[in-house]
Amino acid sequence: MNTAISPEQAAVAYAGYEDLCLYIDGEFLKGGGRREQDVFDPATGKAFARLPHATRADLDRALNAAQRAFQTWRHSSPLERSRILRKVAELSRERAKDIGRNITLDMGKPVAEAVGEVVSCSEHCEWHAEECRRIYGRVIPPRLPNVRQMVLREPIGVCAAFTPWNFPYNQAIRKIAAAIGAGCTIVIKGPEDAPSAVVAIARMFHEAGLPPGVLNLVWGVPGEVSEYLIKSPIVRKVSFTGSVPVGKQLAAMAGGHMKRVTMELGGHSPVIVFDDAEIDRACDLLVGFKFRNAGQVCVSPTRFYIQEKAFDRFVARFIEKTREVKVGSGLQADVRMGPLAHDRRLPAMAQFIDDARARGGKVEIGGERLGEIGNFFAPTVLTQVPDDSLVMTSEPFGPIAPCVPFKTVDEVLARANALPYGLSSYAFTTSTKNALAVQNGIESGMVNINHFGQALAETPFGGIKDSGIGSEGGTETFDGYLNTKFVTQMD
Ligand code: NAD
Repeated sequence: MNTAISPEQAAVAYAGYEDLCLYIDGEFLKGGGRREQDVFDPATGKAFARLPHATRADLDRALNAAQRAFQTWRHSSPLERSRILRKVAELSRERAKDIGRNITLDMGKPVAEAVGEVVSCSEHCEWHAEECRRIYGRVIPPRLPNVRQMVLREPIGVCAAFTPWNFPYNQAIRKIAAAIGAGCTIVIKGPEDAPSAVVAIARMFHEAGLPPGVLNLVWGVPGEVSEYLIKSPIVRKVSFTGSVPVGKQLAAMAGGHMKRVTMELGGHSPVIVFDDAEIDRACDLLVGFKFRNAGQVCVSPTRFYIQEKAFDRFVARFIEKTREVKVGSGLQADVRMGPLAHDRRLPAMAQFIDDARARGGKVEIGGERLGEIGNFFAPTVLTQVPDDSLVMTSEPFGPIAPCVPFKTVDEVLARANALPYGLSSYAFTTSTKNALAVQNGIESGMVNINHFGQALAETPFGGIKDSGIGSEGGTETFDGYLNTKFVTQMD
């Protein structure tokens, strides 16, 4: 199969790519003898851009700028914050096509998905623009008539944020909009594997009139930058989206300095399809959702529990629909699944497949790399995998769908809850009894029944157990960026 676009097409796309840089104290910076790293196109394996790393002096400058800017930004009018966030929403709609194409070059997802990510994030900006005008405190009835008791909610201070490559625009804008909307300032390190979207975000805030120092963008060796920022006494809050092991490491570091954290970590989302579900509809929705972004989605459905009577029908249709998923360069209009974001994900996929096979699992379709250029991996369906296999216990973060049968609701809930993860979950059923059992019994931060309805601007997004701490979006979005101050006053 031909997964790549022509070298000529690639060259045209590279020519329109973002001018990568740092953004510190209102200035876009690059060159100056700074170390640089290559940015690779996962569809071709070619290095096509260079990303400058922040020096220690850059990090100090970003921290000091954020600290200085906080002194005024904390007192800024919510109307002013709202105006800037709205302006960024407007600019991002205008620029979505270019930003989206660059995201595809960076990490491979089909360009329609990438553009959709940018457009939908305009709503996140607008939501924060609206909600930041409603960050209310409260008055508590006093025990004495001459006492006034109040609860104030104040911005926490300088935030350090670390965002991943799978939704490079979405993950960054959520953290930036929440911090800025709350009156905090922020130093963000975006994903070095997929940097263009965060540079584009910095440009839009700059053009929208955000004062220098409120938003600062740095790049570097992730572990070195995060340690330096988290340990800095200037930083009061840490927000990370990424894998569970790194999240635990960063949360422990933040805990050592008693800093607040928001952690959006990995998941291993169970799907429970009951016999009474609309099987064909469930199957078609799930194939679409499973292979979106090549399965590199923290809330991707990853363990498919199908009730016994529906199992054969579900799996047969799932395989048939999986066969129709067209894999190729995300720049091609009819492609539904692009390459994996980087080459280290190919051996990771092979490990899941090898382990499944060794434990008696059956590869129904896929299970292998496609072609030799780029990081393409076939959409894969597995059956007969035991619950203790690697793919059923570790987050695959790739296009692999293991399907297993179950008998009863209690049994499936116990199996679904057996892992330390608790991000998202899915159930398909026409029975209100089953739906209620899942809502009440499943251990996850988000539960989707008969559709996928999460990750909207107005709904909270977050996990429990090892999958994280705190929520982004919804009315909860500012909670992690505000201190609670109690004031009591007597005449
Ligand atoms: P990884 O754990 O090396 O990195 C994940 C992300 O964290 C990357 O963006 C990376 O730059 C960043 N990171 C790594 N070490 C860091 C550190 N010490 N300080 C700050 N940032 C750091 O894994 P990977 O190979 O890039 O991605 C695969 C795994 O990452 C997946 O298995 C998945 O669990 C997880 N992941 C999760 C999400 C999510 O949305 N929750 C997003 C991307 C990756």
